[in-house]
Amino acid sequence: MNLATLLSQVPRVGPVYQKRLKNLRITSVRDLLFYFPRGYEDFSNITPIVNLKEGMSFCVRGKLLEIQEARTFRKRMSLTTGLVEDKTGAVRILWFNQPYLVTSLKQGDEVYLAGKVVRDKQGIFLGNPVQEKAQNSTFELTHLGRIVPVYAETSGVSSRWLRSIIKSVLVQLEGILETLPQEILKGKNFPAPQKALWQIHFPDSIKEAENSRNRFAFEELFHILLFILSERKKIASIKAPPIPLDTAVMSRFTKKLSFQLTDSQKKAAWQVLKDLEQPRPMNRLLEGDVGSGKTVVAAMAALSVAKAGYQTVFMAPTEILSQQHFKSVGALLSPFKLTVGLLTGSSDRFISPKLPNDSIEVSRTKLLKMALEGKVNLIIGTHALIQEKVRFGNLGLVIIDEQHRFGIKQRAKLLHRSTLIPHLLSLTATPIPRTLALTVYGDLDLSLIAELPKGRKEIITKVVAPEERKQTYSFIAKEVKAGRQVFVICPRIEKTEESGALEMKTVKEEHEKLSKEIFPKLNVGMLHGKMPKTEKEEVMRKFRMGKIHILVSTSVVEVGVDIPNASVMLIEGAERFGLAQLHQFRGRVGRAEHQSYCFLLTESSSSGILSRLRALSSAKNGFELAELDLKLRGVGSFTGTKQWGVPDFAMTQLTNLKLVEEAREAAKNLLEKDIALKKYPLLKARVQELRSNLHLE
Ligand code: ADP
Ligand code: MG
Repeated sequence: MNLATLLSQVPRVGPVYQKRLKNLRITSVRDLLFYFPRGYEDFSNITPIVNLKEGMSFCVRGKLLEIQEARTFRKRMSLTTGLVEDKTGAVRILWFNQPYLVTSLKQGDEVYLAGKVVRDKQGIFLGNPVQEKAQNSTFELTHLGRIVPVYAETSGVSSRWLRSIIKSVLVQLEGILETLPQEILKGKNFPAPQKALWQIHFPDSIKEAENSRNRFAFEELFHILLFILSERKKIASIKAPPIPLDTAVMSRFTKKLSFQLTDSQKKAAWQVLKDLEQPRPMNRLLEGDVGSGKTVVAAMAALSVAKAGYQTVFMAPTEILSQQHFKSVGALLSPFKLTVGLLTGSSDRFISPKLPNDSIEVSRTKLLKMALEGKVNLIIGTHALIQEKVRFGNLGLVIIDEQHRFGIKQRAKLLHRSTLIPHLLSLTATPIPRTLALTVYGDLDLSLIAELPKGRKEIITKVVAPEERKQTYSFIAKEVKAGRQVFVICPRIEKTEESGALEMKTVKEEHEKLSKEIFPKLNVGMLHGKMPKTEKEEVMRKFRMGKIHILVSTSVVEVGVDIPNASVMLIEGAERFGLAQLHQFRGRVGRAEHQSYCFLLTESSSSGILSRLRALSSAKNGFELAELDLKLRGVGSFTGTKQWGVPDFAMTQLTNLKLVEEAREAAKNLLEKDIALKKYPLLKARVQELRSNLHLE
């Protein structure tokens, strides 16, 4: 039996259990052994029977003086009684509904029993204790008399069952090869893999168990980092076009702005522009909270690149956002006579240098031709379109907005399009822990916009109960009267069979209700992903111009949309959205000097949900929220890393900065000596495996 052996070939795992385990994603011996316990119970301390007291947890060891099926009352209920004795005394035992015990345990057997001491009229007794026959050595014990593993149980797979099966598999397992190189193991005090697996499931001490887990976490991180760093090395060995920094152009740009850049923006822009000067590809993440002004920094980078004669592609996550960037970045760059193109599913346009404030419709073929011939300085569009179709004559920079899962693979795709590899600038409002930045993000350089532009007021956030709905509507009416605009977010577009049953608010119904009943005198617009593209565009245009007062929308406006005049964000069914998502919604308002509000509507009265939503009122920025989310839901859920194919136990270690740094150091050193991993065939195979399995996209 080895790690690759399938469960169907493991004795005692029949078809029923195979199916149950499959639900836990366990199909091989490897999966089974890497299903680590969620905790341990220490049954290694034996309590003398004389010391037992009511209510006490115990593990006793003694001889069974009696065991018998006592009587069966109430039809199906069975009762087994017993008496156990050690050197210090004896105590009664009662088992309910475990009639099989009389066949497995016999009078005279030496046993371990554990549970809680209870009392009846006749005094204390052991009620329904867990039992296991004593053995000659602790090693032979599985459930009691030692530290035992406790697994996350699901229906039909108990810890007790898992313990027995894992133990028998461990006994039958052939030697596992060590993949960590000797020089890395030196000074680490890690147990060999097989011993580590034993210690994780059946530890001699909790410390040994932890050390063994660390071993595998380290190994997993080490493999991931070997893969990522070797990809990065490949990229770094390719040249990127150096973009000279023209400070005169940059100061002209900043002078034309209607505002002053914040210090953080200046610093971030400086880091980006200095990076671009290098003949190797920049790999930089620009991190800044919602509304901190990342777009203008990106525009400066694009300007610099254009002035050096290269092209920039700017990818946005949604079509609405592409349109917006096209307008705003186009306007920012208009004094510099650049050609800016927009490439989306519905309309392809460009701003020609002669028409700074107006755009003209062009055919897609023409725009693509211009891109290929290097005649358009900047192309803005959604990921999908740009990745598939566009060929650039002279690509210098790729900017990715709000899509932190873009990585190595996508860049590799762009690679074959040009002899030089473009620089990469990724914009995100999602705070990424340093550990993640070092691992899954592959060693990105980080620029931080740590402040919001001056004059922004804190957004007042409130959880609104159903009975306060009316009040909220009158508040909205007042805001609109004062000249402001409002977003209303609903979880669904329209009622479908499933969503109908769940009583979810829908865009269509709310639009109907708000425009006809609640605000008949106001202009209420509607926006969702199923509308034709031209219609969507028209709605956004009207909203931007202030012709629509209230926009009822799905999450299509979640990221990036910039309507500085909007001051109210009302979210229906707020409990259906994650904290990070709600924070993004909230970021749609408070983007200018107006006092802004975020109302979280929920029908739920569950205290868990309410306290999660209230967290949003107390956490003022994305960083605080991300930390909260991390605590509430774990690493994977908040960054979307669950889909990356990194094993769960390694995932939890991604928050362990020390371990991540150690693994990174080790991977770096090894690659310096042997970039192709010629001397390490096992590691090489593993890296190959990761190349095809990790979904870093
Ligand atoms: P995000 O970082 O969320 O992408 P944007 O780049 O969309 O933010 O900027 C949000 C708004 O703030 C825009 O309307 C932008 O013009 C404005 N803005 C950006 N920088 C400043 C600044 N330094 N002072 C005032 N307003 C700014
Ligand atoms: Mg943005």
